[in-house]
Amino acid sequence: MSAYHPLTESEAIERARAVPGVFAPGANLTVREIGDGNLNLVFHIQESGQGKGLILKQALPYAKVVGESWPLTLDRARIESEALMIQGELAPGLAPKVYEYEAELALTIMEDLSDHVIMRRGLIEGNAYPLFAGHIGEFLARTLFFTSDFGMNQQQKKLQTGRFINPELCKITEDLIFDDPYTVSANNNYDPAIENEAAALRSDRELHLEVARLRYGFLTKGQAMLHGDLHTGSIFVTPTSTKVIDPEFAYYGPMGFDIGAVLANLLLNAAAQGGRMDDPSALGDFRAYLLDTVKQVWVEFETRFRALWAEHCVDRLLRESGYLDAFLAELLQDTFGYAGAKMVRRIVGLAHVADIDGIPDEARRNRARRVALGIGADLIKRHRTAGSIGQMLAVANLHF
Ligand code: ADP
Ligand code: MG
Ligand code: MG
Ligand code: MG
Repeated sequence: MSAYHPLTESEAIERARAVPGVFAPGANLTVREIGDGNLNLVFHIQESGQGKGLILKQALPYAKVVGESWPLTLDRARIESEALMIQGELAPGLAPKVYEYEAELALTIMEDLSDHVIMRRGLIEGNAYPLFAGHIGEFLARTLFFTSDFGMNQQQKKLQTGRFINPELCKITEDLIFDDPYTVSANNNYDPAIENEAAALRSDRELHLEVARLRYGFLTKGQAMLHGDLHTGSIFVTPTSTKVIDPEFAYYGPMGFDIGAVLANLLLNAAAQGGRMDDPSALGDFRAYLLDTVKQVWVEFETRFRALWAEHCVDRLLRESGYLDAFLAELLQDTFGYAGAKMVRRIVGLAHVADIDGIPDEARRNRARRVALGIGADLIKRHRTAGSIGQMLAVANLHF
């Protein structure tokens, strides 16, 4: 009975109150809108003075981009809520619980994770999360394996692909990650101080051919249901817990895009810390932690993926032919390439990261940008020769 309209704060409170079993009847509820307002509203509803509340996330029918409004499908709220439920089932404990999804209002009601911090924030402050690599390795291995032709019924997978076509959000990725940074585009956004580096991206034919391979992979390689936006701003952490949120870009794509997103954001933070930490030994230690985490994420992912394959691979020929090694070798190469593409777009493209843009000193900020661009472009160019995760650390160390 509720035609679509953006909820007011008092409507959000009443909607939260109607979720069974969360708040006591007549509880005194307070609300705060905590989203950034570009794409979605996020309401945090809490009983005054109490701990955990509820989160109401509502999609807006437009995106504010470069000062304009672009219409953007509300169906992404369905995709997000379905993806959250699938991910929560496949990777228990690693996604927020979904209480309700209301299609008319493009509204998802989910677990309140306010006792966690957004990982990007935590890393900017120099905090380490020793359990993260294992947790995200588990999330990646289980969500990617069990939505692929290796781990789910292959006819079912074709049908499920149809529920996650997501053309409008994919187009955002196709433009912002796999096109704009390599041409003159009104969407691009970078400091004039790095104009030479940005111009070099536009004229590098060898780089463009490698970006073309990655772009075509993103367009055509429907290997598994991806999260699609797995940066450190989509990950909530505590020292003992990891929760992945915000899968509105979910679609069937190349697995390396999700793995690469995680690794890229660790490397972006490592580049940024050069402009943040003043004590060289603290900087060295934290970068060593971040690079070790890059390695461990891949190792934890691969170990689990191999175990899942051994126990659950549904395809006789793939299972018995030894194809797994060839598959993982190609996946590592994709991961290098997509990690690189993710880094480049965060420096010259539309949306940046606070790790780097928030560096107070201008010269250090621009140096961090050059470091990140150098790593990103190198990862793209070398991706088809990658043979071990150690090579990613070596590329990063060349540029620090
Ligand atoms: P968007 O798609 O607009 O980026 P997100 O899902 O990333 O929206 O949410 C935006 C912000 O809202 C997050 O960075 C976080 O601060 C807050 N938020 C989102 N989901 C939750 C949650 N389940 N618990 C607590 N805070 C949340
Ligand atoms: Mg946002
Ligand atoms: Mg988000
Ligand atoms: Mg989002």
